[in-house]
Amino acid sequence: MSNNKGFTTTILHSDRLLKPEHGALHQPVHNAVTWGFDDVQGLVDVFQNKSKGYAYSRQGNPTVTALEHKITQMEQGLATIAFSTGMAAITATIMALLKAGDHMIASSYLFGNTRSILQTLTDIGLSIDFVDATDVENVKAAYTNRTKMVLVETVANPATQVADLEKIGEFCKEKNVIYVVDNTMTSPYLFRPVSVNASLVINSLTKYIGGHANALGGSVTDTGLFDWDTYENIAPVLKGMIKPQMLGMAQIRKRGLRDGGGTLAPEAAHTLSVGSETLALRMERACTNAAAVATLLAHHPKVSKVYYPGLEQHPQHELAGRLFKRNGALLSFALTDDVDLFQFLNNLQLVIKSSNLGDTRTLAIPVAHTIFFELGADRRAEMGIPDSMIRLSVGIEDTEDLLNDFKTALDAQY
Ligand SMILES: *Cc1c(COP(=O)(O)O)cnc(C)c1O
Repeated sequence: MSNNKGFTTTILHSDRLLKPEHGALHQPVHNAVTWGFDDVQGLVDVFQNKSKGYAYSRQGNPTVTALEHKITQMEQGLATIAFSTGMAAITATIMALLKAGDHMIASSYLFGNTRSILQTLTDIGLSIDFVDATDVENVKAAYTNRTKMVLVETVANPATQVADLEKIGEFCKEKNVIYVVDNTMTSPYLFRPVSVNASLVINSLTKYIGGHANALGGSVTDTGLFDWDTYENIAPVLKGMIKPQMLGMAQIRKRGLRDGGGTLAPEAAHTLSVGSETLALRMERACTNAAAVATLLAHHPKVSKVYYPGLEQHPQHELAGRLFKRNGALLSFALTDDVDLFQFLNNLQLVIKSSNLGDTRTLAIPVAHTIFFELGADRRAEMGIPDSMIRLSVGIEDTEDLLNDFKTALDAQY
């Protein structure tokens, strides 16, 4: 389909246009682990990247390919590789492209498990500086001639800092550094990192893209903007075999996916793929709900602070308004000292106490006691995470029901 169709139209018709058998509207679930060839040359050609067929499902499967194709269209990129989880995508991307001694600059406001795997990668030889990525000057100050990659998230969880996405993109371009943007919190419906010169885009498909908390998955998309041909860590064996613009993806698929083994199962790919058809509709409703909840909380006397890019007092309110279609469905807030945090959460009847994000249902979690517990009190204080902070992933419930649930819980006696 020509790419001048809208976001949802493109996704809805994506599988059908790849012409699955019998005119199926969805790419079927191919549970095959391996494929047989009548002529051995066919098998050899797949191994030598001379044909697009499949050999072994760890590195490629038609159901997974169909999902990858959808994500590439959503991100308006060049190609995508899917993984079993978002963490598998992040780990494989870094391990495939960097070597011991290489330097990386990462946002200090990262998803907790991303922060943790970067610590593990430091232990085995990467050199990583964590900087406040809301200001490009901090990235510039950390840059060295060994810097090969910059990693940021669009909107950080839980305190919703927005990275200085455009200016970091300009700096990475100037220095010819791989710019990796984790787009999970915005999703390609609200923001396309290709527009700020990202080289690679990470999505946790588990969150908004799948949308229903019923399958794990992750992906990395190549925007086509980085020059892999001159990148020194590309394996020489790939150079003769792969087109220059596909070298980055080929190295991630082989070293990251095939060798790392974080493969997405075809059943999960199908579930995520069907979920992704309504990404735009869900995101619109969730953003409307989030804005309404943020406004309610911001005006309530028992709430001491609300973290949401849609509020005027948010430090990156202007940037978020300019870059993102809407302000997202993640928000956090802190209660005043007189409110018992656990009692308040238990008073919520509709909102579920749960750690996921991007579900259709609204989920709440006390940050200091759970996702940031392992950091300890000192690091939390440094990061500006109060003990009474609650993170919300706002879902698609009817707005009034959601507002009533928060009102009732806040107005209860503590
Ligand atoms: C959840 C999340 C991940 C990890 O994704 P999984 O699918 O849970 O492995 C990575 N980055 C961000 C920003 C996330 O929210």
